[in-house]
Formats: sequence, structure tokens, C-alpha cells
Amino acid sequence: MTDRILIIEDEEKIARFIELELVHEGYEVVKCGDGRTGLEQAESGGFSLVLLDIMLPELNGMEVLRRLRRTSDVPVIMLTARDAVMDKVAGLDQGADDYITKPFAIEELLARIRLVMRRNSHHEKAEPQAAPEDVQSCGELTLSESRHEVKYAGKEIDLTSREFDLLKTLLVNKNIVLSRDTLLGTVWGYDYMGETNVVDVYVRYLRSKIDDAFGISLIQTIRGVGYVIRDENG
Ligand code: CA
Repeated sequence: MTDRILIIEDEEKIARFIELELVHEGYEVVKCGDGRTGLEQAESGGFSLVLLDIMLPELNGMEVLRRLRRTSDVPVIMLTARDAVMDKVAGLDQGADDYITKPFAIEELLARIRLVMRRNSHHEKAEPQAAPEDVQSCGELTLSESRHEVKYAGKEIDLTSREFDLLKTLLVNKNIVLSRDTLLGTVWGYDYMGETNVVDVYVRYLRSKIDDAFGISLIQTIRGVGYVIRDENG
């Protein structure tokens, strides 16, 4: 089932930006521009998470949270203004699960969303066991498609969905060199109109999260051709 996220944020540009990123990550999104309708929506249920701005018309975010907590324990991440330490403390006191300070990097918000939702899903349902063929691996790196989970030596690595797709493509084709065009076509789609160096950029992201983070070199550049993922021993 698709996770639904409610955004309660009166700054339309910010709300729209977050919405686009979340939809890209596969979430369903509902937006509300003021505290009162936001509270009504949140109370109507069906959301996996609420992103709640503090400075809101009609009803401020802190009040929305206070009232929401009477009836619901849906995870809430507060969007706070910079240096508003009191807001953070008060928000956590009122039962917020986390907060993020504006302006924020979207990567950080996505990571927090995943973390808060994972934390919450744990005591609701047992994790499904992945089928063996569902897991791709290279050395100590494993990727489970059904769980959308990547680990190195048992330690979980947090990837965006694009990074995940790129890594999956490399792993499925382990030891086979893939050209930039092939990767672009498989991961971004043949109608992709953006920068062609996007593959290099995302390979860099993967390397920093995997190779650099663990002091290994699984993802290799084949000059003039493309990329390959190889077991260090093979
Ligand atoms: Ca606001």
C-alpha cells in the first residue's frame, strides 16, 4: 500500500517543492495551506505521516499538534524556522516525532521521513521476509527489492529511490560494464531530457554512501565506456 503524507504548510512554493519530491519517491501527497483544514484532514486519518509547519494561518502548528494528539498518534515531523529552539522543544513535548529546520536539504527531509515511518511501522507489523531471489549482492553489499533496503556488512545504507534504482541496475548486471546511455535509459527512462552527466552525479552519490563510507571500491569507472560493480575479490 502506498504511504500517504499530509503536508500542512502555507508557503505554496515550499509545499509544492516537497510534494514533487515526495511523489517522485512514490508517496501519495495531500496538501493543506492552513492549520484548521490541516487538522481536519489529519484527523480524518489514513496518513502514514504529517509534515507540519509551525507558523500557519487559522491555527498554528503547535495548536494543530496539540489537538491532533488527543485522537491520533500519526507520526508528525515539524517544519521549524531557523534557530527557533523553543519551537523544537515545545513541538517534541507536544508529541512531535521529529523536526527539521527550514531551509533544509530535501535529502535530509526524505531521510527523516523514512526513519520516522520505519520506527513507527515496527511495532505495528512484522517485517515481511524477503524471498532469496529478491536479494542482489556484491561482496558484503546486499540489496533487497521488496524491502527497499540496502546493507553493507549488515549495516543499513540510506538511499533515495533514484540511487536505489541505479545500484539495483548495477547489481543485477554485476561484473558487466554498463554504458552511461544504458544506465540513463534503464534508470531515468529513454525520454529523459535533463543533463546527461546525471549518471556520473548519481554514481558519485552512491560512492560516497557506499565505497567512501566503508573504505571499499565496488563501483568502478571503466574509462570511455561506463560503470561496473565488481566484487573486490573478483
Ligand atoms: Ca508558514
